[in-house]
Amino acid sequence: EAKAAGRNTYRFFCPSMQEVLDQMAMLENDLRHALVRRELRLHYQPIVRADGSLAGVEALMRWQHPQRGMVYPAAFIGQAEKAGLIVEFGQWALTTACEQLAAWAGDAQTAHLTIAVNVSARQFRQPDFAQCVLDILERTGANPRRLKLELTESMLLTDVDTLITRMAMLKETGLGFSLDDFGTGYSSLSYLKKLPLDQLKIDRSFVQDMLQTPHAWSIVQTIVNLARGLGLDVVAEGVETSEQWAALRRLGCAGFQGYLFGKPMPLEELRMGVTLAAPGHSEDSEP
Ligand code: C2E
Ligand code: MG
Ligand code: MG
Ligand code: MG
Repeated sequence: EAKAAGRNTYRFFCPSMQEVLDQMAMLENDLRHALVRRELRLHYQPIVRADGSLAGVEALMRWQHPQRGMVYPAAFIGQAEKAGLIVEFGQWALTTACEQLAAWAGDAQTAHLTIAVNVSARQFRQPDFAQCVLDILERTGANPRRLKLELTESMLLTDVDTLITRMAMLKETGLGFSLDDFGTGYSSLSYLKKLPLDQLKIDRSFVQDMLQTPHAWSIVQTIVNLARGLGLDVVAEGVETSEQWAALRRLGCAGFQGYLFGKPMPLEELRMGVTLAAPGHSEDSEP
């Protein structure tokens, strides 16, 4: 059968290769239209304080594909980066989040909430990035103090002086910067000291393992102490159990995000006023 396939023999040995490539080409073509077809969505995931009260949310992008249904970032953000679409997508996310902030500002129950928006390295590297953010803030009327931009350590691969200048300029508006997935990337401690950051987010992988493996525990503890020493807020990502939450609180962590408090969800499902049961109670009520 392989011989009969002639020049395409390799397809016999590796039947999925072409399929994968075709799929990717199709997806990329669809991706190019996602924005004008209004298929992008923001889901919001709660970020809570030590007492369980809602401090804010992280905005996470989803793609509502007409045939495939809800597509998650792992399946399209990388491709959007490669195709250069991430710049427009990112601007859309920032605009949508800022419109939400402006809408929340009028209600005492929501006015204090922050929204964190992920910014890709490619987006941040655009020469007009800072101006774009300023324009969006002005156009939407969002309070910059309620906005956090989440950067990743991959930003540090580019010129750090430019990065710092750009951050400093944006910080003048009052917005904050958070370093996402901290501990998994390239940052050296000397950068941490130089960058005008407000927050570190402890990567989910460390939180997941912290109660099982002493190494992960000690990494989490070190990040919390490092943040405190540098005067930065710290948020733990991927908190799934009340045991993890309790342990993190004991270490002095003050912000928490994870399935324990809520998955990323459409705006309508977000319950603003909710304070989770006081720490002691929530542990007692575990099955
Ligand atoms: P991230 O910024 O680190 O976001 C946190 C990810 O962890 C989200 O995945 C969230 O759903 C997931 N997560 C939160 N809590 C838990 C938990 O308790 N358990 C588990 N297993 N997972 C949890 P998501 O939404 O699939 O996003 C993945 C990544 O895609 C994000 O990681 C971020 O790097 C990127 N991303 C999402 N939205 C945007 C965007 O608007 N722009 C850019 N440039 N990147 C985005
Ligand atoms: Mg993030
Ligand atoms: Mg993260
Ligand atoms: Mg992460």
